[in-house]
Amino acid sequence: MRYYSTRDKSNAASFAAAALTGLAPDGGLFVPEEIPGYPPAVLSSLGVMGYPEIALETIRPFVRGEIPDPVLEDIVRDAYPFGAPLVGVGGRLILELFHGPTAAFKDFGARFMARAFAWLRRGEDRPLRILVATSGDTGGAVADGFFEVPGISVTVLYPKGRITPLQERQIAGLGKNISALAVEGSFDDCQRLVKAALADEALKKKTPLSSANSINISRLIPQAAYYAAAAGRAFAGKTDPDSEATPRIKGGSLPPGAHCLQASSVAPPQSPVPSPQSLVILCVPSGNFGNLTAGLYAMKMGAPVHQFIAATNINKTVPDYLASGEYRAMTSQATISNAMDVGAPSNFERMAAHFSWEEMRRIILGVSVSDGETRETIARVHKEAGYFLDPHSAVGWKGVDKLRAENKIGDGPVTVLSTAHPAKFSEIVEPLVGPAPVPASLERAMSRTVTSQTIPAEESALIEVLAS
Ligand SMILES: *Cc1c(COP(=O)(O)O)cnc(C)c1O
Repeated sequence: MRYYSTRDKSNAASFAAAALTGLAPDGGLFVPEEIPGYPPAVLSSLGVMGYPEIALETIRPFVRGEIPDPVLEDIVRDAYPFGAPLVGVGGRLILELFHGPTAAFKDFGARFMARAFAWLRRGEDRPLRILVATSGDTGGAVADGFFEVPGISVTVLYPKGRITPLQERQIAGLGKNISALAVEGSFDDCQRLVKAALADEALKKKTPLSSANSINISRLIPQAAYYAAAAGRAFAGKTDPDSEATPRIKGGSLPPGAHCLQASSVAPPQSPVPSPQSLVILCVPSGNFGNLTAGLYAMKMGAPVHQFIAATNINKTVPDYLASGEYRAMTSQATISNAMDVGAPSNFERMAAHFSWEEMRRIILGVSVSDGETRETIARVHKEAGYFLDPHSAVGWKGVDKLRAENKIGDGPVTVLSTAHPAKFSEIVEPLVGPAPVPASLERAMSRTVTSQTIPAEESALIEVLAS
């Protein structure tokens, strides 16, 4: 498969080149030259296939000729010992994307990327250094994904004092090939420093440098797999039993009359949720729109998705675009769903490369949710359905309520993507509904010690650290 830049079709690259360089030389984003369809035999069994199998079928055509099948099979098995359970909650379906080691959906992309990089660079004797700027979640997922991958080291830059203690431990508590820099500035400063280092020719001569931000195509493609898995099961009317990390109030503590659906912790595995859905609607809490773009790819591949909902917080550049046809980037505003505080979503360029405004409007419903509505939703869903939502997933839940009230979607069940475990954002969740059960991976991360170096928000400071 060839990839070309969103800004200039003559700038083409292989999967390896597109993945290892991240951004096209003209500043555009790499997109695949075509989106292949799933074979009919795969489409008809999406509802019953295991997660690594779906991941294999999804990624294979995008890396054909570059990653041999047996290698790809090893990569996906190793990357995905966890899956994406689809559970019933209060008459809806929740796609739980937080069962990976850092408890947010970014594990799906980062874990594949790390293993693909290791294979694509086999036989290289010069080590590669990956730079990543983070506002919180990306850094942890990338650090965890690349931890102990031979021949590759990672340097994560984060805004000092502006990420949660748990996120800091996920980034700066691993050691070995992962180092952490606490930058005395904002996330934008971190990004500026990374860009400066990536453009420094003298530095790159010493150590090859790459970046692992969310525009990397190798993070995006594997995410299409959980859309296919979810749509396949929703279409077939199948759900999963609760797993150990499903953040539900267990047993009899549900208030009387709460309709926690059949698929509660006592339901047998695969209990049917309402009924097979011919019109699957997936609601995606969105910021930089990498996640939703992966969903669009899955739909183009043939996954049985009827529509998407793009739910944002007040950073509503894309919902505004869908309504008006005019794209106006904004400066981002801080919210309690801070992984979605993006005013100029980079992946919009990819969406626009594949779809016109009219097409996007047909496929995607936009909606924006305030912090007050988000808090109210976390409290209400906990009270009525006994389920803990993190602030990002609560934006998705409320987005469905709002579109329903406006009669823009019907009464059928909708699937809301849950992008993070509520225990990851306990600062917001706990004061509203008490502590959510903490998954084992987060407990382990909390016990790590932070080792990071503080640097001023100056380009020269980063370049000095990297050169030493
Ligand atoms: C990154 C992130 C998002 C936003 O995803 P995009 O792909 O940037 O739209 C939403 N929720 C959580 C928890 C995240 O970490």
